[in-house]
Amino acid sequence: MKSNAKASAMTDNRQFCEESLEALTRTQLEELQWTRLQKTLERVAHSPFYGGRFREWGLNSSGFQGLDDLSRLPFTTKKDLRSAYPYGFLCTPKDKLVRLHVSSGTTGQATAIFYTQKDVENWANLLARSMYMTGARPGDTFQNLTGYGLFTGGLGFHYGAERLGLLTIPAGAGNSKRQIQLMQDFSTSVIHIIPSYALLLMPIMMEMGVDPRRELNLRIGFVGAEPYSEEVRRRIEDFYGMRVYNSYGLSEMNGPGVAFECPCQQGMHLWEDFYLVEIIDPQTLEPVPPGSYGEMVLTSLTREAMPLLRYRTKDLTRILPGECPCGRVHRRLDRMQGRSDDMFIIKGVNIFPVQVEQVLMNIPEVGNNYQILLRNENNIDDMIVRVEVTDRVFVEDMRRLQTLQKKIARDLRGELLVTPQVELVEPHSLPKNEGKAVRLVDERKQ
Ligand code: ADP
Ligand code: ZN
Repeated sequence: MKSNAKASAMTDNRQFCEESLEALTRTQLEELQWTRLQKTLERVAHSPFYGGRFREWGLNSSGFQGLDDLSRLPFTTKKDLRSAYPYGFLCTPKDKLVRLHVSSGTTGQATAIFYTQKDVENWANLLARSMYMTGARPGDTFQNLTGYGLFTGGLGFHYGAERLGLLTIPAGAGNSKRQIQLMQDFSTSVIHIIPSYALLLMPIMMEMGVDPRRELNLRIGFVGAEPYSEEVRRRIEDFYGMRVYNSYGLSEMNGPGVAFECPCQQGMHLWEDFYLVEIIDPQTLEPVPPGSYGEMVLTSLTREAMPLLRYRTKDLTRILPGECPCGRVHRRLDRMQGRSDDMFIIKGVNIFPVQVEQVLMNIPEVGNNYQILLRNENNIDDMIVRVEVTDRVFVEDMRRLQTLQKKIARDLRGELLVTPQVELVEPHSLPKNEGKAVRLVDERKQ
């Protein structure tokens, strides 16, 4: 069953979707970036926010001589976006706007992002390019299992997939049995899904008696919008029998399609013809040494409605050294560690939820959902890790469960240098989210 769609999808063997923009030399790329940055600097001067700032600093776009001059500008923050809500960053007249998205507000008050027709087209092209890079082709059926509406993941991928010529099913998030039915009925070969939902869908498929490797036609999964570990990628790939490509984006920079993995699966190419990237130390705000982890700062180079200069994403990652075997000039980002807001401190140790996930998902008896709970009792911080076990383990005897509990605590200690309390819970008993997963509950803050 798998082979038919594969054969038709493989007839176009070009390596690049937009050869002239993917296979540039670094010098050509930097020339393009500089041309686009100049235009962006002219454009932003029309927004109340940047216009005001430029006047304050006595700057105008002609005062910039090259890409390096960008570092003379202060950063733009989420707080700035909120303070100027809703129109303070707008650079075009309102009658040029065709779309508005609102960031999902994972961390606090939402922010509004506007698009002109050209912004929507550029965005669709970026996603078409990204999907093409992984091998998706006309002839594929693409099922989009992420929320439509204000979240950019739905419409962003939708327009990109149609631009590429994929048969696109706007399934949206949730309604799991229906999703599986759609996959069966229309031989879905490519999906877009957030990692936590991909994990939650597995037991439902098993319950329905559907073996995805034998009965579904899946071959490519775009998985992103929230942090996940290499271990989760492997679980998803093994279960669904498809290759998983990491996809990164944020509403402030359009949405998905900012950085995307190529078939080498060694980091995500950041589309540098559309975005300028810097990695800074979030404390000192200075650039980190090449290849080191830090906070990613992005400048949009083509956005018309609402370009942002040196936007602090709060996402922590690094630029991978060296060139990608695929030959694309665009540099690669390492898997996101999380947002700086996600990091928690317990007993003096800094931890990201994804580090916990990495340990848990390496243990076969551990199911697909977990939760980290932080508490303070009598002035002592406690970290409790609630772990769903698999159905098979759940029926085992007490002694084996205790052994498993000890192993998980030991492995977590090995990675985190903190010994958490581990609670094993029934399969499917932890809270589920259709949107981005909430892995951390910090009761110390309440
Ligand atoms: P919100 O900030 O409300 O979640 P967005 O939908 O714009 O709104 O989410 C963008 C954020 O999602 C990014 O800044 C990043 O923190 C996270 N994200 C997106 N893609 C990935 C990915 N592949 N890996 C890790 N985190 C991601
Ligand atoms: Zn590559």
